[in-house]
Amino acid sequence: MDTSSSSQVLLPPLSRVVVSGGTHGDEMGGVYLVQGGAPCLKRTTFTAQTILSNPRATEARRRYTEADLNRCFTSASLSTPLSADSPYELRRAQELNRALGPKGGPGAVDVICDLHNTTTNMGLCLIGYSTRDWICLHLYRYLQEQMPSASVRYLVFEEGEEGSYSLESMAKHGFAMEMGPQPQGVLRADLFFQMKQAVTHTLDYIELFNTGTVFRGGGVEVYRKVCTLDYPRDPHTHQITAAVHPQLQDRDFCLLSPGDPLFLTLAGGETLPYEGETPLYPVFVNEGAYYEKNIAVTLAQKETVLLPPMSVQRE
Ligand SMILES: [Zn+2]
Repeated sequence: MDTSSSSQVLLPPLSRVVVSGGTHGDEMGGVYLVQGGAPCLKRTTFTAQTILSNPRATEARRRYTEADLNRCFTSASLSTPLSADSPYELRRAQELNRALGPKGGPGAVDVICDLHNTTTNMGLCLIGYSTRDWICLHLYRYLQEQMPSASVRYLVFEEGEEGSYSLESMAKHGFAMEMGPQPQGVLRADLFFQMKQAVTHTLDYIELFNTGTVFRGGGVEVYRKVCTLDYPRDPHTHQITAAVHPQLQDRDFCLLSPGDPLFLTLAGGETLPYEGETPLYPVFVNEGAYYEKNIAVTLAQKETVLLPPMSVQRE
């Protein structure tokens, strides 16, 4: 029996907390939340800082202006010498890394909650890079308990060869908070207030942790990214030749089995089935921002992670 899972983990208090929005300038929940709609950010043990990550893209109401900011936080990008030709977002990433990082260093902020919206039907979904970040995973369970009517899920992305690439990876404990479905450039009140509530609970959780609450151990279900699928495309023009199948549309986190409808061809209305060998969970189904990234669907597998009991380390 694995006894390590039952021994209590002690972690340092979380004093520097950042809530960021507008990392993608057309994801309006985070933009409006940090531009004045934020919940009370002050607690007794810390005051969270809000940051508008990409002011230029937000002004233009676009995802980015020259490069996707949320892919600029690899160690390689952060250490690239800047020149007159460097994209604005690379400059901004290095500026943020000086203010909130340096990534991986002892001076980095403790927590970054980076707010995003997705056009897909993913509900409230935390995204992290690790199944051993107990701060993030206990938060996940806390949000599930506090927001039972929202289906809160946790998606794990593997680090690439250059490590993690997204903004929240600068923090000791970083995660993205995705909320959908919301079209690009649009603010939906229902999702905005759900996001605001989730941020409030996040700050409450950090306060509870800092003031000595013991979070009990136990299992949580997470989704781990396995692969992505592109749209069928014309080999010469690269134009898509099929759309996500109506029976898959909006069915994020609903099991996709081999043979299930995946795409519908534009020319003939022919159904193209999922040809994978194992059933997997689709996420980011038909995400508007991912056409340019050649991703129609991301597939994930469900896993159980055993959380150890956790509390703050006293001096
Ligand atoms: Zn985003």
